[in-house]
Amino acid sequence: MNVADSRRVGSALECLGYAFTGSLEDADVIVLNTCVVRQSAEDKAYGRLSSLKPLKTKNPALVINLMGCLVGIRNNEKLRIRFPYVDVFSPPSDPGPLVAFLTQEEARTIETSETENRFAVMDGKFVLPEHERGKLVSAHVPVVLGCSHACTFCIIPSRRGAERSRSSVDVLADVRTLVAQGVKEITLLGQIVDRYGKDLPDGPNLTTLLRILHQVEGLERIRFLTSHPNYFGEDIMEAVTELPKVMPHIEIPIQAGDDDVLKNMRRGYTQSEYRKIVQKIRGRISGSSIATDIIVGFPGESEMQFMETYHLLEDLRLDVAHLARYSVRPGTVAERRFPDDVPEEEKMRRFRMLEELQEKIVGEINSRYLGNKVDVLFEDKVKGRWRGRTPTNKLVFAETGQDLRGKVIPVTVIWTGPWSMQAALNSIPSPDGRGVQG
Ligand code: SF4
Repeated sequence: MNVADSRRVGSALECLGYAFTGSLEDADVIVLNTCVVRQSAEDKAYGRLSSLKPLKTKNPALVINLMGCLVGIRNNEKLRIRFPYVDVFSPPSDPGPLVAFLTQEEARTIETSETENRFAVMDGKFVLPEHERGKLVSAHVPVVLGCSHACTFCIIPSRRGAERSRSSVDVLADVRTLVAQGVKEITLLGQIVDRYGKDLPDGPNLTTLLRILHQVEGLERIRFLTSHPNYFGEDIMEAVTELPKVMPHIEIPIQAGDDDVLKNMRRGYTQSEYRKIVQKIRGRISGSSIATDIIVGFPGESEMQFMETYHLLEDLRLDVAHLARYSVRPGTVAERRFPDDVPEEEKMRRFRMLEELQEKIVGEINSRYLGNKVDVLFEDKVKGRWRGRTPTNKLVFAETGQDLRGKVIPVTVIWTGPWSMQAALNSIPSPDGRGVQG
C-alpha cells in the first residue's frame, strides 16, 4: 500500500514539474512515507526522520514531507512540536497536503490558473512517476483505503481511518493509465479487499470490479489482496474461475489456529470456518494457491493453543505462510487489555517451528511443478536471470539473452526449491513466426 502511495506522490510531483532524483542531497523535496505496523518500523521511521535534519539545516529551502501511518488521520500536533523542521504532514494515501504546500509556494512566482490546472491533472490518481514508466510490469492499485474491522492487535484502523472504497470509475481510469504506461499486471489492494464496495451505496462489489477490469485491453493479469475469511464469498470464487486474467492465488490470513486466541484477536471466525473456506476455494478454483498470515505468541497463547496453529498448517498445506512474532503495538486494544506474557525466546521457538514446517510443505508443493509447463509473466532481470511469477504467484527464474520484460512466456520448470523455481524457456514465437529457443 505504501509503495502505491509513494508512486502516487511521485506522479503528483511530476505534474507540478518536479523530477525524481535518487540522491537526498540533490532533492528539493523529500517525502518520507512511513509504516508503523510494528513498533520497530515506527522506530526506524523516527530514525530516518532525524537523519534528515542536517540536510534541512544545510539547505533551509528544502521541503520535508512526513507522510503515512506515522502521521495518521488525526491531529498530529505532537509531531509538529517534536519535528519542527518538517514542512508538511500528510495522512496515508494523500498527496494533497504536499501538493497544496508546493502550489502555494509556487503561486508566488507563477499564475494561479496554471497552478490549478496542473493540480487537477493529478487529483486522485494512482499512476506511475516518469522514471518508472515502461519499466514496471506489475503495479499495485489501492481500491479500499482504511479498515473498520479493528482486530485487537492492529494499529491500522486508527492510522489509516475507516474503510473507504474508491469508485470503480477511478480504479478503472488508474488501471487504463497504468496499462498505457506499460504495466501488464495489477494487484488490487485493500486491508480487506473482499469488502470492496460494501460502503458504496449500490456500488459494485469486488466481483463486479474484477469483471470491469478484465475488459481492459493490454492488461494480462489481475490479482487482489488481502481477503478476509468472513467476506470471501462464492461469487468471488466464481469470478476467479471464470475470468482468465484473474490469477488463482488467494491471500487469506488466519492469524491463529486456536478459537480463543482468534476471539481475543477479534478476528470474527473460528478455525473450522477457516478450514471450510480453504476447502471451498480448493474445490471451486482448480490449481489455486493459498497464502495466509500467522502471528505467534499473541498474549495468553498457551503451548496447546500454539499447537492448534501448527496442526492447522500441517493439515491445510498452504502455499505461503507469512509468519510474525507478536509485539506490543502501543495504541491497540491488545496493548491495553492483554499483558504480553509469552517470553521472546518462546515466541522465537514457535516461529521457528512453523518456519521449518512451512519450508518442508512448500518444498513438497513446489516439487510437483518439476517438469511441468507453466505460463510466467517476467518482470525484471536480477543478477543476469529473468525473474517472473506463475499464475499461482510462485517465483521463477530463467536464463536467456532475450528481453522477456512484460511477456507471458510458457516455460518448463527444471528445478524447484521452497522459495523459488528455475525454468527453461520453451519455443517463443518470433516476429517471423519461425520461433526461437531460449
Ligand atoms: S482486518 Fe484486522 S489486521 Fe487487517 S487491517 Fe483491518 S484491523 Fe488490521
